[in-house]
Amino acid sequence: MVYDYEQVDIPDAGERIEVVDEDADELDIPENPIIPIIHGDGIGKDVGPAAQKVLDAAAKATGREIHWMRVYAGESGRERYDENLPADTVNAIDEFRVAIKGPLTTPVGAGYRSLNVALRQTLDFYANVRPTYYIDGVPSPMKAPEEMDMVTFRENTEDVYAGIEWEQGTDDVEQVREFVEDEMGFDDVMHDGPIGIGIKPISEKGSKRLVRKAIDYAIEHDRDKVTLVHKGNIMKFTEGQFGTWGMEVAEEEYPDDEVFAAPDSLWETQDEVEIPEDAVMVEERLADAMLQWMQLRTDEFDVLAMPNLNGDYLSDAAGAQIGGLGIAPGANFGDARVLAEPVHGSAPKRAGQDKANPTAMILSGRLMFDYMGWKDASQLIYDAVEATISAGTVTYDLERQIEGGEKLATSEFADEVVENIEDLA
Ligand code: NAP
Repeated sequence: MVYDYEQVDIPDAGERIEVVDEDADELDIPENPIIPIIHGDGIGKDVGPAAQKVLDAAAKATGREIHWMRVYAGESGRERYDENLPADTVNAIDEFRVAIKGPLTTPVGAGYRSLNVALRQTLDFYANVRPTYYIDGVPSPMKAPEEMDMVTFRENTEDVYAGIEWEQGTDDVEQVREFVEDEMGFDDVMHDGPIGIGIKPISEKGSKRLVRKAIDYAIEHDRDKVTLVHKGNIMKFTEGQFGTWGMEVAEEEYPDDEVFAAPDSLWETQDEVEIPEDAVMVEERLADAMLQWMQLRTDEFDVLAMPNLNGDYLSDAAGAQIGGLGIAPGANFGDARVLAEPVHGSAPKRAGQDKANPTAMILSGRLMFDYMGWKDASQLIYDAVEATISAGTVTYDLERQIEGGEKLATSEFADEVVENIEDLA
């Protein structure tokens, strides 16, 4: 789809990323792509430009050049367009396929629950992907933080996050209560008096495409295992069905020697089962147990695929094990499209002070490069970030936890990473 833009210019130089096959998630990536970027609100104004500088350096060091297309949302959207999420921005991300954004603050009364959710839903970015790995030198509460190397795939469009809920005291909620009690026969389940009610939709389409993405990722990145994490022993027809549909994908859509669907994995250990060599094993685990095992048996897990709410909790918990929000990257995957974004928000109390840690946004850019097949540039970013942090040159959030660390501003940290990129290239 090619759009007309009201207030942003398409860079003259630079080429478009073209779709080769949307269903197969295949893009044709030129060496000089046009990539839309939203710097973001709050600390986005600090970490956005800092990350951009690092990504430019890594592209240049590997013989490429990014032609950025600045687009606007949140506060910058309101300043330019008097809108939180201008059509120019949504259209640019739709048309150019690969984009990166900083955090956005959703103002009260914006008409959205969250700008981020609106953006993900409008463009059907259905998988929120967070690689969680340890970077040498980052302070962590764990004894062996280096054991953590997981990638979480969180379903992004449904579950209790779909926003189908009714407020206590309204006619609507009473109508729903009446229907559930009288028509559906749950007449003695809900307490009398004021009540709020929400609905948890989990569909075959939403579950299967998420699990497919996670399995494809595992195959492409030589991962050993995909764990479907749900609470299907209690919520049988939603969470449980997610697990069943997910296992169907593993069983029916891939050859046995490529993907092995572990039998009865919710209740049985797989010790006796013969798994074809090099196959990705797909198993099911209960979400509550998983939260323990992530800490107690960290190195046993690899790629995790989950419904929306589980994904929200588990990915944050995994992030805490390797040093927290300042360094946690993420991206939203759709079919032949990606929108990279750090896990953290706009941290208003640190905004505009050239203080926040840009690592999460830099590593989100790294994930975007991975998706684009720029593995050399991605590795260079990892090496340069690790060299910078392990030398003890860090932003305030890490410095306060490292003895003898040197505190750098956001921009200074980015300069240090750029220098390391140039040295390592
Ligand atoms: P937050 O912005 O992530 O910040 C919480 C705290 O985490 C900060 O005060 C800071 O802790 C630390 N932190 C976060 N990012 C950091 C960074 N890059 N460097 C150093 N420290 C960092 O969460 P929040 O305060 O709950 O949310 C603020 C706003 O962001 C809300 O409007 C929310 O809706 C929005 N939000 C947006 C996104 C998104 O755009 N994807 C995601 C989450 C939240 P210290 O104070 O200890 O330094």
